[in-house]
Amino acid sequence: MIVAIDGPAGSGKSTIASALAKRFGFEKLDTGAMYRAVAFTAQDRGIDLDDEEAVTALASTVTIRFAPGEGMSRITVDDRDVSREIRTPAVDATVSKVAAYAGVRKAMLEPQRAAAQEHDIVAEGRDIGTVVFPKADVKVFLTADPRERARRRVLQRHAGEAIDAHSLEREVDETLAALERRDAADSGRAVAPLIEAEDAVEIDSTAYSIDEVCDRIAELIEERR
Ligand code: C5P
Repeated sequence: MIVAIDGPAGSGKSTIASALAKRFGFEKLDTGAMYRAVAFTAQDRGIDLDDEEAVTALASTVTIRFAPGEGMSRITVDDRDVSREIRTPAVDATVSKVAAYAGVRKAMLEPQRAAAQEHDIVAEGRDIGTVVFPKADVKVFLTADPRERARRRVLQRHAGEAIDAHSLEREVDETLAALERRDAADSGRAVAPLIEAEDAVEIDSTAYSIDEVCDRIAELIEERR
């Protein structure tokens, strides 16, 4: 069984995919983490991100693996754990550039498809239902109001900390601008852009809790089992 969840940045794909994977005993495949790993490693090794050939060569030669970890799954590049390093604002700002390179996408496709051969999976990203698994059993396009997506990101970043209303709103504004830049780049690129698959079920999560969204997708999974 393949469950595909696509949607813009901050729409809750990762949280929902993790919860569903746990509920059904499926593996979760976070394809965004793979593009992030390429962007981080290129920067870390001093590769110019505008050099498509060099970035593609890197993506084609590194070994990216997922390993189970506490809370979130761990990701390694050539056996180096980069789980924390790929979640920085610097990577947020540059990942869309490397993800737009056709050769980089080609290099990521094979390991993504291989993941579904061994397990039932919940895969999340931008092109899962359109390119990676066009025959996925369940396809969901998850959206949410942009400001709500930005707000969730900020609250996640400050989980457990007190933050005053003024600072919160300012950070939401900044985060919103960054999310919108990334969505525009991901939707506007020539190769595998972020678009809704024709046969996807669109779920707008703005007014729903994580559990409510999971229950809705769980119904779709049960229907296909
Ligand atoms: O999902 P996440 O926000 O971690 O993804 C980071 C970036 O990776 C996206 O903004 C996009 O540029 C790229 N990506 C992609 N295709 C996917 C998953 C992510 O191009 N299937």
